[in-house]
Amino acid sequence: MIAACPFCAQPTVPQALVCSSCSRDITIPETLLAERDDLIRKRALASEELAQAKAELEALRRRQRISLRRS
Ligand SMILES: [Zn+2]
Repeated sequence: MIAACPFCAQPTVPQALVCSSCSRDITIPETLLAERDDLIRKRALASEELAQAKAELEALRRRQRISLRRS
């Protein structure tokens, strides 16, 4: 995968620590990568919870509709 330098937009060499065109530091710190992975996991978990909550809400609404019809 060829990535572009975020500063000068020139293609960068894979695994390069600095851009060959503008000489800026283009490495992504390990801590940031770990944080990103953690955020991706949290996002997946959150959307799972959201889907579950929606299903519960839908079930509650269905139950409420039934009880309203009865009274
Ligand atoms: Zn550059």
